[in-house]
Amino acid sequence: MKYVKLIAVSLSFMILLSACSPSSTGNEQTLESTVGEEHTIIRSASKVTNDAQTKTIITSQESFQIGTHITIKVYDDKEVPKDAFDQIFSLIDTYEYMVSKTINTSEVTEVNNNAGLSPVNVSDSVVELVEIGQKYAALSDGLFDVTIGPLVDLWGIGTEHAAVPSDEARIESMGKIDYRKIDIDKTDKTIFLQEAGMEIDLGAIAKGFIADRVKDLILELGYEHAIINLGGNVLTVGTKPNSDAWQVGVRDPQSSSGSTMGILKLEDNSIVSSGIYERFFNAGEIRYHHIINPKTGAPEFNGMYSVSIVSDTSVDGDALSTTVFLLGLEKGLALIESLPNIEAVFVMEDQSVYVSSGLGDRFILTEKSYTIKSISDQ
Ligand code: ADP
Ligand code: MG
Repeated sequence: MKYVKLIAVSLSFMILLSACSPSSTGNEQTLESTVGEEHTIIRSASKVTNDAQTKTIITSQESFQIGTHITIKVYDDKEVPKDAFDQIFSLIDTYEYMVSKTINTSEVTEVNNNAGLSPVNVSDSVVELVEIGQKYAALSDGLFDVTIGPLVDLWGIGTEHAAVPSDEARIESMGKIDYRKIDIDKTDKTIFLQEAGMEIDLGAIAKGFIADRVKDLILELGYEHAIINLGGNVLTVGTKPNSDAWQVGVRDPQSSSGSTMGILKLEDNSIVSSGIYERFFNAGEIRYHHIINPKTGAPEFNGMYSVSIVSDTSVDGDALSTTVFLLGLEKGLALIESLPNIEAVFVMEDQSVYVSSGLGDRFILTEKSYTIKSISDQ
């Protein structure tokens, strides 16, 4: 059954890939799958275009991995060989099969299966991710919590069994969530969840972490100008080859067509957004989205529709987008203002937009139904 679904998703993604193939020079857009050690990666062939603005060649490839649509675009004097993309997609695959809690052979699944039983040996990256999780949990007094797994499973948002749970079930799951009950042994490289039923879910930070590793690899391969897009989490390598900033659209959280409401200019940094539009289900009038407050056991409703974080590393942006969404506008903005080199754009349900003070003219509002406000206007 699972495989049937995977094939259905794969086919629709391939149709999507073939549909978005504009005229290109060099390689024709063909579809292919690379078979890794155990599994298939769904991806496109290279699309190669001459970019008049920067007088360089853009080589891009797309894939469907970590449950999302990935695009890697590299700007260089010549076409980027297929082998470079093979390495990039295989790196993403390695991390996906290490950290996904829905893959039953992953390290995170093994940690979860051994909750309350025994410590589990894990890779350095898993130790690092869990430590990052604990840092943001401490910063938000436990609103951000990577042991959110039982509540994520209970609500099933983004799955076929998504539904509003009973109060009893919600309260029972809430009792299993506590980031302070994760033991990390850095010498032995083990992780132990102290109580049976606890579950780590790295969904709020894994994409950012993986984007950072892809950037390291692109730089190692000798490329200096690239744009990495993991399902809307965008990480840029350098500037455009002509020293221009990259312009990245900020999604309009109220639009169902995925249109944008503003533009952010990025130079060698990352933009990550969290919002109510990413994964959700509707029940009655209410849209239940996937960012859950562990203190209420339910999706967080605080008037915020989305928040986009600009940061140097994507993992910090990813952790902060979820954390700040949970903190709400006032506390979230105060946290952003207290952190160096981190900026944010908040889009609220009432069409107001709040921008952190260091962003200056790097954010341009393009959708006129929104109004930029400041906290003092309230
Ligand atoms: P996306 O993954 O769509 O980019 P986020 O980065 O905001 O969005 O992450 C949302 C994911 O984070 C959820 O799908 C879930 O796996 C996890 N999550 C939900 N609530 C919390 C929370 N309170 N603390 C930590 N992780 C959470
Ligand atoms: Mg996040």
